[in-house]
Amino acid sequence: MSGITVPADRTLKQPTLGFCRNPQCREVSNKEFRFTVKDDYFCCPKCKADQEPMIGVLTMTHLLIPSPTGPVIGLGGVRYQLACDQDRAYLATATNNEAATDNAKIANCPGCIVMANKQKIVKPTGESLSLDSPKP
Ligand SMILES: [Zn+2]
Ligand SMILES: [Zn+2]
Repeated sequence: MSGITVPADRTLKQPTLGFCRNPQCREVSNKEFRFTVKDDYFCCPKCKADQEPMIGVLTMTHLLIPSPTGPVIGLGGVRYQLACDQDRAYLATATNNEAATDNAKIANCPGCIVMANKQKIVKPTGESLSLDSPKP
C-alpha cells in the first residue's frame, strides 16, 4: 500500500487536514478538496491519489497571542503564546508542517480559532512569525 504519511511530530491536539489538488475532487471552485486525515498513512478519500504533490498535509497555522509570560519568543524578544496551547514553546519544525501568525484571519488551526473568537481578537497586525526561518 502506498500513501502519504503524516509528520511524526505534528501536533496531536488538533485534527490533521489533508488536501487533494485533483480538479475532479473539488467541492468549491478554485479550491483544493480538503479532508480530515484519520490515519498516519493516507490517500485522497475520493480519487485515492496517494502521491505528492497531488495530495498532502495542509499546513496548520496557529494563532499567536501577545503574552508577557508566554513561552514563545518572537522578533525582538516579544513574547507570545499559542492560542490553542499556552504551554507549547515551539512553533514549527522542519517537518511538522505547522506555522504561526498573529493575524487571526490567517490562522487555520481549529483550536486557535475557537480561542480567538472567545477572546475577540480583532486587531491583527498581519505580522507572521516563524522560528525556523527568522527574518534578517
Ligand atoms: Zn482526490
Ligand atoms: Zn493552534
